[in-house]
Amino acid sequence: MENISNPNNQKSIIIIGGGPAGIACAIQLKRYDIPVLLIEKSEIGGLLFNANFVENYLGFPDGISGEDIVRRIQVHYNKNEIETRFVNVVSLEYIENKFIIRTTKGKYYSEIVVIASGTKPKLFDNKKIPDAIIEKLFYEVKHISNVQNKTIGIIGAGDAAFDYAINLSKNNKMIIFNKNKTIKCLPLLFRRSQNSKNITYLEDRKLIRLSESEKRIRANFIFFNKDENYLLDYIIFAIGREPELDFLNSSVIDCYDELLKNKKLFVIGDVKNGITRQASIAAGDGVKTAMIINDLLGEKDGIPHEEYRK
Ligand SMILES: Cc1cc2nc3c(=O)[nH]c(=O)nc-3n(C[C@H](O)[C@H](O)[C@H](O)COP(=O)(O)OP(=O)(O)OC[C@H]3O[C@@H](n4cnc5c(N)ncnc54)[C@H](O)[C@@H]3O)c2cc1C
Repeated sequence: MENISNPNNQKSIIIIGGGPAGIACAIQLKRYDIPVLLIEKSEIGGLLFNANFVENYLGFPDGISGEDIVRRIQVHYNKNEIETRFVNVVSLEYIENKFIIRTTKGKYYSEIVVIASGTKPKLFDNKKIPDAIIEKLFYEVKHISNVQNKTIGIIGAGDAAFDYAINLSKNNKMIIFNKNKTIKCLPLLFRRSQNSKNITYLEDRKLIRLSESEKRIRANFIFFNKDENYLLDYIIFAIGREPELDFLNSSVIDCYDELLKNKKLFVIGDVKNGITRQASIAAGDGVKTAMIINDLLGEKDGIPHEEYRK
């Protein structure tokens, strides 16, 4: 079990999450020569990997796929040789003026922690889902981005729902099921979905039951008081996301505002950005936070800036 608790490592800034927010923060800290450890449970790049086509990130006038921009971000990140652990943070505690970051493979200590853990999907109430189809249900597109000639249902009507449908419609038949009549996505995404012969958009369908049929998913919906059903190979739920903060221990929750105010704890990117969740905003948060930390360390208890960085 790895246990980094020596004084030098206590001086490292620890970043939880390797999406655009955490990466931008780590790279900027590195530019200041401030020791940083980034902890990521999956792979560097975060949620952006799921984006079909990113058209609002500066520097890509013709747009770029989520996968391609993430590959570029990974090259950029790796070039900076930032200390990284690929483990899940299970608990963040604050005890005797220090953070304890417990992971699946040991614990770390730090005086300053940056939470850049993004969001987690809101789950479909799965009490009645048969085991046989659970492995055909997803909340992100990246897990089935290579499938072909399938019929895939998307539950939701926001940007992510339409983005997933457009992405997978290159090789599959897609059906978007909206439980309301209101569409909450960018007009351009809706237009693109309408122009695809492989995408069917259905309104007023409320999902009520999932079962197995012919080794596929039988999805039952209520439509104008009638039961309607569809046979699908996979379903992607895009029914909203919420902050990924499950690892916060009560010792942090109890003094959360104070830790933020005293600049011991920073929370950046999608995890705190509500409806304004975008990669460029997350990256901006990361750079800004690193600059604030740099400023902070320069003033720390009269310790000269350069000394603290050793
Ligand atoms: C379909 C889709 C399309 C999109 N299109 C665009 C677009 O065109 N333009 C745009 O700007 N944005 C787009 N976005 C939004 C963009 O992906 C996010 O705004 C951005 O990724 C947020 O960055 P972040 O670093 O805050 O969080 P995330 O990217 O979510 O990164 C958080 C990271 O933290 C890690 N993590 C979480 N919990 C833990 C833990 N306990 N321990 C260790 N690691 C942990 C996660 O594994 C993840 O890698 C899109 C999103 C989706 C879903």
